[in-house]
Order: sequence, then structure tokens, then C-alpha cells
Amino acid sequence: MIKAIKGLHHVTSMASDARQNNMFFTDTLGLRRVKKTVNFDEPSIYHLYYGDETGAAGTVMTYFPFDHMMRGRPGVGEVGETQFSVPKGSLAYWQDRLTAQGVGGIQLDKTFGANRLRFSGPDGDGLSLIETVDDKRSAWNAAGVPDEAAIRGFTGARLSLHDTGAMEELLGFMGYERAEKEGNVTRLLIPNGNGADTIDLEALPQTPVARQGAGSVHHIAFAVENREKQLEVRKALMDTGYQVTPVIDRDYFWAIYFRTPGGVLFEIATNEPGFNRDEDTAHLGEALKLPTQYEPLRNRIEAGLTPLAA
Ligand code: ZN
Repeated sequence: MIKAIKGLHHVTSMASDARQNNMFFTDTLGLRRVKKTVNFDEPSIYHLYYGDETGAAGTVMTYFPFDHMMRGRPGVGEVGETQFSVPKGSLAYWQDRLTAQGVGGIQLDKTFGANRLRFSGPDGDGLSLIETVDDKRSAWNAAGVPDEAAIRGFTGARLSLHDTGAMEELLGFMGYERAEKEGNVTRLLIPNGNGADTIDLEALPQTPVARQGAGSVHHIAFAVENREKQLEVRKALMDTGYQVTPVIDRDYFWAIYFRTPGGVLFEIATNEPGFNRDEDTAHLGEALKLPTQYEPLRNRIEAGLTPLAA
């Protein structure tokens, strides 16, 4: 069994409008934009990263905004809900704040004994805030969100699946332990994680397969400390029969990817080198950073991108 995974690293989704996406995650949710760069395969598209002060693993939501992309259709074989951790007692604040800002899909309920506020991102993204007791992670206090309410990072994510059996087996192999079951949702938990520790598996046997588009999660990444641990994980997965990509340098982490039994794309990403690799922590996310191979095309790339508010 793999013991090197420490919870989530990041969640990457797609959006239809860079400016709207940037406003929502910085001004509405109060996260810090920790990197403004472009897609490695499609440099005319931004890759925007939002998280805590440093973009610590387990806090980072990232987006590819494709102009005018059609909305996805939620379904099985994808991440159905990305869940953020907020302090206990803060959901009334968030309900007022999100309502005042015209956020859709607001719904207050409970999940595994914790208060949860579900809401939709700008493209219908399935998001929620979950009250968490004793989350020791510090918040990025921006956009007027008080410290006693600010987002601490992810608690985890919920995967929507036809059948949860094979996924539960895979996550068990990745070091997750079965914690609880509530209705059609099974909660798994990683021991000694980074705070983004839970994965909920929702069984939806009658639901059609998702069609990916704006508002859909493209992939979900799990954290390992360093490249050495990543190679151990890669070998263990391949020995078990998974088709895993070679290690890919993503500038701020190294990545490997593999497709899981339920269809969800998984990534394993390293905590090293981090987002301060090419700019000071004090100025993360301000300047447009380009992968080295695109630096000669900077003027052309920059001219084609929608300018974003700081
Ligand atoms: Zn990724």
C-alpha cells in the first residue's frame, strides 16, 4: 500500500470567462491568486491558481478559462463537489455574503455531522464550504473576509460515480481509510494529511456520464512531498496495472496522471518546488509567468489574453 500521499494538492477546473473567474475566486471567496500563467499545451489560454498565501498543497484551486466554452453537464465519472474548509460558526456570514453577491445554488445542509453551504461557481461549478473544527491552517485574509470566516483550503472533494467499489479499492491502495457512510456517500480519510483529507464517494447508479465543459473539474491532484516519493507512488500504481504518464515538469510541481476506474482523471503532484519558485511570496500571482518555451512569444501571448484585475 502507498503511504506517501498527504491529501489533495490541487483541483483543476474549466471556466468560460477569465475575468469573471478571477473576480469570483479572489473578490467573492477571498482566495489569493498565487499564479497567473498559461496552459502548457495551449498558451493562448490562462492557467490561474487560487489558494492561501503561498499556494500550499491542499489549498489550490486552478482554472483553465476557455473563452465562451459551453457549460459542462454534471454527471458521473467526475468530481461533483469541491469542498472548502471554513471555521465553525461562519456559514451565516458566508450565506449573507454569497447571497449579496448574487451567487447561485445556495443551499445550507449538513454532511457527516458538519454544516455545509453548497453553491455554484460562475459556470455552475459544484462548490461548498464546510465548517471544520480545529483546522490549523491559516487563511489569506482578502476582500474583506474576516479571519473567523476565511477559507483555510480544501477539506476534500466528492466524486460522483456509477459504482464506488473500484474507486474505494484504489483509494484504499493510495492510503485512504474508510471513515463513515451516510446514505449513498462513503467518506474516506487519509491519516496524517495536509488538511485536505477527505474524499467522498457518491454512488449514482442511474445518473448519466458527465459531459465536461465550463464549470467541470478537469482533474484532481493528490500531494506527495517530493519527486522521490512521487516515483515510489508511480511504480506502485504501475505495478498494480495502472497506466501512469511519465513525470511531467509543471514548473511549480512535478506531475503524473492516470485515469481511474470510475473515469475521474487523477494526478499525483509534488509539494516541491512551489509557487515562489519564480516570484517572491509577497508578489505571487501578479505578473504573467510563462513556461520557458513560450518566453520568446511573450508579447504575442500577452496581447491575446484578457487583462485581469489585480
Ligand atoms: Zn493538475
